Amino acid sequence: MHKRLKTFVPSPDTGLGKLTLITDTLVCYQGGGYEGCFWEWNYALLDKTGKFHNLISSGRNGCETEEALADNLNEATGYELIPMNDIKKFIDGYATLQVQDVVRKLNELDYYISIECAECGQEFSDMDDITTEYKASSFSCMSCYLNDEEDEDDT
Ligand SMILES: [Zn+2]
Repeated sequence: MHKRLKTFVPSPDTGLGKLTLITDTLVCYQGGGYEGCFWEWNYALLDKTGKFHNLISSGRNGCETEEALADNLNEATGYELIPMNDIKKFIDGYATLQVQDVVRKLNELDYYISIECAECGQEFSDMDDITTEYKASSFSCMSCYLNDEEDEDDT
């Protein structure tokens, strides 16, 4: 599922070592690494102007700066670069709780990303309006979630 993309071209001019990161791209990479035995996905954004934003970083390989990220990706065993115009790939492919967190942060940065409720098909861009509590593998809007709870109470 986490296919590695190698569409970027090494360029010495970027100051990013072996890697040229493309603007308006979500960078998903293996962070974490507590005591070498655990990692979790971390996320950073290079926005339309090429500015770096640390979205979620944790543990030993969490990257708070662009330089750290470039170094880490050069050595990393796993990462994926997702162009923002292909963000659906991220929404459909990654853990729902993390998707919700990342999309919330992206929308705070003036993106306008919406997520579809698996029950009613409505799209929501305010991450407070959706939940993953009903089914961890999909999103439900709050009203579908609450309706389903009521249905369960009735039976
Ligand atoms: Zn719904």
